[in-house]
Amino acid sequence: MISVASGKGGTGKTLVATSLALSLSANQKVQLLDCDVEEPNANILLRVAIKHRQPVYIPTPSVDETKCNYCGKCAEVCAYNAVAVIKEKVLVFTELCHGCGACSYLCPESAITEEGKEVGVVERGDSENLELTQGKLNVGEAMAPPVIRDVKKHIDHGSVVIIDVPPGTSCPVVEAIKGSDFCLLVTEPTPFGLNDLSLAVEVVRELDMPCGVIINRAGVGNDEVGQYCHRQGIPILLTIPLDRNIAMLYSRGIPLVEGVPRWRQEFLRLFENIKRMVASSRSAK
Ligand code: SF4
Ligand code: SF4
Repeated sequence: MISVASGKGGTGKTLVATSLALSLSANQKVQLLDCDVEEPNANILLRVAIKHRQPVYIPTPSVDETKCNYCGKCAEVCAYNAVAVIKEKVLVFTELCHGCGACSYLCPESAITEEGKEVGVVERGDSENLELTQGKLNVGEAMAPPVIRDVKKHIDHGSVVIIDVPPGTSCPVVEAIKGSDFCLLVTEPTPFGLNDLSLAVEVVRELDMPCGVIINRAGVGNDEVGQYCHRQGIPILLTIPLDRNIAMLYSRGIPLVEGVPRWRQEFLRLFENIKRMVASSRSAK
């Protein structure tokens, strides 16, 4: 299972994830999980017909005030400040609720039941060797991790699994990456790219996972990313140049490996390198 992540959006993460998926799917079963649930756009390039849709719910509390004695325990145990008890009123802020269930479990009067609140949807489809599962967070919702968890419930261990990770370094990123064998970090050679890359490296190291870097839009900035990777002992596995044709293909929704077929070989080589690194990391443990 390979995660494709980046410290910030717009670095070419989806371009890499889809190119790798399409290159490998010529010869084997591949599953792409689009966990960038606020903006899942892998299917703009893959164009897989969606055949299944399943809503994602989180359990949110509903208080029966005829049983409630306003003890305040629910507000006390909620780590997300989603419940407040004011005089003889219990207020639930469902937009802050993470659905952890602590308040209903610990209510001494059994006054809290759980109601499902829809926060997003998981969509699935396939085309020959390629299966796509994508999560979509409802507009205005902040709870990405439950949608990501539901996407990952569909992991097919008989396929090469590629995860398009949300940008950044927060909880949804960790939720998407964890359990992977390898993390590809896509960056661009600019000071901003370097800053976000170094934060992403910290997350991956916390998860004790081998990683490698792909530099996209090479030629746009300086060599500080290269020097950083050298110092940190992180291999640069692929360099994609700043190229008007590549940008044009992407803007038209044409996958790189279809627009410029020679890139298939580059992504197949990338996969072989990743397999070698995963094997050596396992034997070192
Ligand atoms: S914990 Fe239960 S009884 Fe206490 S205030 Fe909350 S809902 Fe009411
Ligand atoms: S389910 Fe968890 S997050 Fe939601 S209100 Fe209850 S304690 Fe807070």
